[in-house]
Amino acid sequence: MSATAQKCRRCDAVLFPARLLCPGCGGDDFGRAVLDKGTVEQSTTLSDGTVMATVLPDGGPRLIARIYDTAPGGRVALTHDPAAGPGHAYVPIPDPASPAAGIPQEER
Ligand SMILES: [Zn+2]
Repeated sequence: MSATAQKCRRCDAVLFPARLLCPGCGGDDFGRAVLDKGTVEQSTTLSDGTVMATVLPDGGPRLIARIYDTAPGGRVALTHDPAAGPGHAYVPIPDPASPAAGIPQEER
């Protein structure tokens, strides 16, 4: 399961995290963009061993994700599934049922 982001239907800007208004055009009509893969830019290891990274998705905005076994420059599959494991970057989102997740109900 790929990660998703909010996509402005007026100007096609891809936004993550979700916004109430598009910062590009001021629009408030959003759809969904699928973020399949991305490139790890930088990573850091927390005191508990968790590795966090900045990831630049293909066609999406830079985001922060938990990674497992990928060095900077490496490719990862993006997911909202915390159990996905190695080869993936876990991108947390609010409860998908929440309007704050930015995904229109009919597209979930
Ligand atoms: Zn827009």
